[in-house]
Amino acid sequence: MRLEDLRIDGRRLRRSLEEMAAIGATLGGGVERLALSDEDRRARDLLVRWLEELELEVTVDAMGNIFGRRPGRNDDLAAVMSGSHLDSQPRGGRFDGPLGVMGMLEVMRTLRDHEVETDRPLVLVDWTNEEGSRFAPAMVGSGVWAGALDLPWVYDRRDAQGRKLGEELERIGYQGEVSCQKFSVRAYYEYHIEQGPRLERERKVIGAPEGIVCLHWYDVYLKGESNQVGPTPMEGRRDALCAAAEMILEVNALPEKMGGNMVATVGEIQNQPNSRNIIPGEVHFTVDIRSWDDELALRAWEALEKKLRAVAERRGCLVEVEETWRLGHSSFDPALVQRVLESADGLGYPSLKMVSGAGHDASYVSQVCPAAMIFVPSIGGRSHVEVERTTWEDCEAGANVLLRCVLETAIER
Ligand SMILES: [Zn+2]
Repeated sequence: MRLEDLRIDGRRLRRSLEEMAAIGATLGGGVERLALSDEDRRARDLLVRWLEELELEVTVDAMGNIFGRRPGRNDDLAAVMSGSHLDSQPRGGRFDGPLGVMGMLEVMRTLRDHEVETDRPLVLVDWTNEEGSRFAPAMVGSGVWAGALDLPWVYDRRDAQGRKLGEELERIGYQGEVSCQKFSVRAYYEYHIEQGPRLERERKVIGAPEGIVCLHWYDVYLKGESNQVGPTPMEGRRDALCAAAEMILEVNALPEKMGGNMVATVGEIQNQPNSRNIIPGEVHFTVDIRSWDDELALRAWEALEKKLRAVAERRGCLVEVEETWRLGHSSFDPALVQRVLESADGLGYPSLKMVSGAGHDASYVSQVCPAAMIFVPSIGGRSHVEVERTTWEDCEAGANVLLRCVLETAIER
């Protein structure tokens, strides 16, 4: 069989995705598999079992990142790596993450079935805590691997119950012996759902992002004064929730005011004491700003911060802001992006060059080796929700593009 005629098994890919989606399945048809939870452990156990069945060399590093390595004919060459993550958002979807891990698994299985050898070794990866919803920030597994984040600092991140990331990693049995650090990689391909509406709207099957927008995360803490709602007159109140309400609308108005290509969101809020007959005394909320233009995002934050201080002062509240995470926009390797487009072409799938509005492990990985991503459409552009879906045909198409990209890079001509 000519390598150009090689295809992955779409039905087997579907079965793996369905078996994975059963772990932490929610009533609404999604999954809840927060990083380092018991569900995450069961998903990891299943993955490791599948990797061992393929006789891959399995290693787990100190961040809990899981690697499955298939030797190459010339095993000293830099590897071709692909994968994504198995953790999910609270009541999240089945495809965000697992598609990339199961996609590479299916590529490995296809190569075994057809006894295809590659010159370069191949590595499948499952990155720890991509989502960042239980432990902020996101993408810490790939961040430490790439040398962008410090391991002790990441171990110290706490969830809402105060449990430390490092302790939870140990508890589920995935704190590996191998140190977490980059190794030599010729190309990293991450196969993922688009998580937006563009491919569907333009009737394309494959998206090849040129890179990922910058991600800036902030935490805002407000202090007002709690009091009984009945006897306390309206004038002179220091209502932290009212201040937050005004601030949230300022965040929402920011992109239009800045006049550039950016988005700004408040997605999380805690109100204290959160009682119907007490004036809210303390509020915490998050701000997420993203843009392809890092400077614009920074200017937007500066403008916003002034607004926040003005609102707080007018409402008699104290405001503290914290920069939680700042990751510049990442440009993918132009040659690999081109390879994704050409592979799609060669397979007869209509494709599109675009930009990723969502963060991915490929962002940190692209800091240390050539990287690119393969996107397939999200039905209705929905993701991070239980109804997140991609058609099985599109899942198969993306895995075929991944197979072709991997072979093109891993076999010397
Ligand atoms: Zn993802």
